[in-house]
Amino acid sequence: MIVGVQTLAGFEKTLHYRVPERLAPLAQTGSLVRVPLLNRTRLGVIASIGAPADFPVSRLKHVLEVVHPFPAMPGDLPELARWMSAYYAAPIDTVIEAMLPASVRKGARLKTERTLRAGRPFLQGELERLEKRAPAQARLAAFLARQLVPQKKSLVLARLGVSAAAADALVEKGLAVEEERRVERTAYADALADGELVAAQPHVLNEGQRAAVEAIRRRLAAGGFGVTLLHGVTGSGKTEVYLRAIQETLERGGGVIFLVPEVALTPQTVGRLRARLEAIAPGHRCVVWHSHLGEGERLDGWRALASGEAKIVVGARSAVFAPVSDLRLVVVDEEHEPAYKQDETPRYNGRDVAVMRAKLRGALCVLGSATPSMESHANALAGKYALVELRERIDNRRLPLIHVVDMRVEAARQRTLPVLSGDLARAMRERFEKKEQTILFINRRGYSSSMLCRKCGHTEECPHCSLKMTYHRTDETLRCHLCGHQRGAPLRCPKCGSPEIRWPGLGTQRVEEAAARLLRDARVERIDTDAMARKNRLRELLAEFRAGKIDVLVGTQMIAKGLDFPNVTLVGLVDADISMHVPDFRARERTFQLLVQVAGRAGRGDRAGEVVVQTFTPSEEVIQFSRHADFAGFAASELEWRRRFGYPPQRHLILHAFRGKNPDKLAFFAEQWARLVERELAGRVELRGPVEAPIAKIEDTYRWQLWYFTNTVTRAVAELNALRARFQWPDDVIQTLDVDAMSLG
Ligand SMILES: [Zn+2]
Ligand SMILES: [Zn+2]
Repeated sequence: MIVGVQTLAGFEKTLHYRVPERLAPLAQTGSLVRVPLLNRTRLGVIASIGAPADFPVSRLKHVLEVVHPFPAMPGDLPELARWMSAYYAAPIDTVIEAMLPASVRKGARLKTERTLRAGRPFLQGELERLEKRAPAQARLAAFLARQLVPQKKSLVLARLGVSAAAADALVEKGLAVEEERRVERTAYADALADGELVAAQPHVLNEGQRAAVEAIRRRLAAGGFGVTLLHGVTGSGKTEVYLRAIQETLERGGGVIFLVPEVALTPQTVGRLRARLEAIAPGHRCVVWHSHLGEGERLDGWRALASGEAKIVVGARSAVFAPVSDLRLVVVDEEHEPAYKQDETPRYNGRDVAVMRAKLRGALCVLGSATPSMESHANALAGKYALVELRERIDNRRLPLIHVVDMRVEAARQRTLPVLSGDLARAMRERFEKKEQTILFINRRGYSSSMLCRKCGHTEECPHCSLKMTYHRTDETLRCHLCGHQRGAPLRCPKCGSPEIRWPGLGTQRVEEAAARLLRDARVERIDTDAMARKNRLRELLAEFRAGKIDVLVGTQMIAKGLDFPNVTLVGLVDADISMHVPDFRARERTFQLLVQVAGRAGRGDRAGEVVVQTFTPSEEVIQFSRHADFAGFAASELEWRRRFGYPPQRHLILHAFRGKNPDKLAFFAEQWARLVERELAGRVELRGPVEAPIAKIEDTYRWQLWYFTNTVTRAVAELNALRARFQWPDDVIQTLDVDAMSLG
């Protein structure tokens, strides 16, 4: 048997090997193998079966090992890898590496433990004789005879104070049996065990949900590839629709991938999902997959899927590559989330890969969101995706009232710029008196965004990054949020020595302080990555908040997503302008998403919710659209604007980034390169730049960038790659292509 192997060693070419007879039964397309290559042993994946046309078979080397007894990249995955490599301009070996967890590539052993159980029954008087001659053996034998299930050997020996030799002697006599047992490592096993989670009962579906389930069910029954965009307002019960679709698929014998953004993968959601899934599909195991898994846990989950033992996986981005057998449904929740984009090679978008994978497998892909991305929305408008809408919140709860506060007026009235406007402060006091809860959002951690000298206007920047440093009052430091550089906060201006330093701009710490000052008897807590440095702190805080022990929760958008607190009736967005006025063509889309998500946190219980939005630009269209939760209106205006300037989804955007230590050299080569592209690819890609990146320096490395706009990504990437191979790049300039980049640099 001759096979073509794609090695994970930086070779684009397939190399051929002979499979020895003893390994032949295990070798198939997609199998992970070890092969000799340039005097070393390398991992590879069998890409094809059959001899090469142009090489004498007798000179081929042998495959050394087949790592797993089933294909590591079954069915559609090799083809998906080739597509990703061509589309995302990533070497095929980096794509395969992203697809296969490290523990799978290493072929790590399963974790096992040795157990002991009782063997044959005692003979007449045997135990008594043993007690006299070998008391340790007798102790162990008597203990095992009382146990119903095998016991972990190391634990039993330690507890009874018995040596391994004594155990061996018992095994020798046949009085004990030693076995090896596979240990399953389960992520979040503790969260399921501690009783904090109650399996939510299946809800009675409302009319909208029933219609949505019916539409998806029809698509599933018809079979074949399709994409359905499930657009449901916040609180409309999308999850319940996903669950029914999953149930349907499992009952038909198909496999399922369920993607959620990493941030949403809290033990809370995972526990609830798993409990529900295992309840609606008895006998099915649900594998959990995310970046915080230990390698062992990941390997076990992967193996359960690859061997067909489990048919459903819930996970973050990379779960899109899970080796699910007979894949028929891929669900992508919160499909608009930028977290689906990987920010290192291969720079893929998990949502788009999910659609492609469904296409290769002839499966159904369901994309869900309360605020669909402009890309998906445009596809639905064009009829490429089927659109299913949920317009009602479950139990007919009303969307919260959104109250916009003009901070210009507020500043004039109070003669100073307050953190909390009069309206927000009043609403907070009211809630506190009624024992209801408030969430305050501010999308910046720390105390203030920068330090400003009132005398000379100096602001302090990070010496390694061209970014203003953020003031943290808790430990009186200035910190760079990019590289982590920090220094003590100065008492005088570092430039002119003036003591008149101001701290403009709001951060979580300052909002926390203002809330605590406003409500002196209330318990105010803060959730941001700084406060979460301690393990499990997030979980504790959320549990206490749910239990009503915290009155006001202050946080970044970390807490805006997917959390459900029935007693929260007031949500304040302290500074809506932070996300709106960044130089990025997606700024308005992100702001709309943020406002809608934030508003969705209020009034999820029986009580009506209220949202207060503080802004200096209350007349901005995006504020007005989100105020009425008018997605269609927002999308129409946004798509029109994108069309006019040729931004995605009108065309695809490729970001070409250059990094290096020498800024002049970087600028020179970026210019030279741009001229070459302009000459060679004129008419096929439109060029913008080169310019300095928005953050021109990070960790002492300078950054320049170019954008390409194109209608045909795969072709543009191939042409750019061919040009890149021709161009003489200096060794110390690092460049990366980011296809469908999520931000402008
Ligand atoms: Zn100064
Ligand atoms: Zn820095």
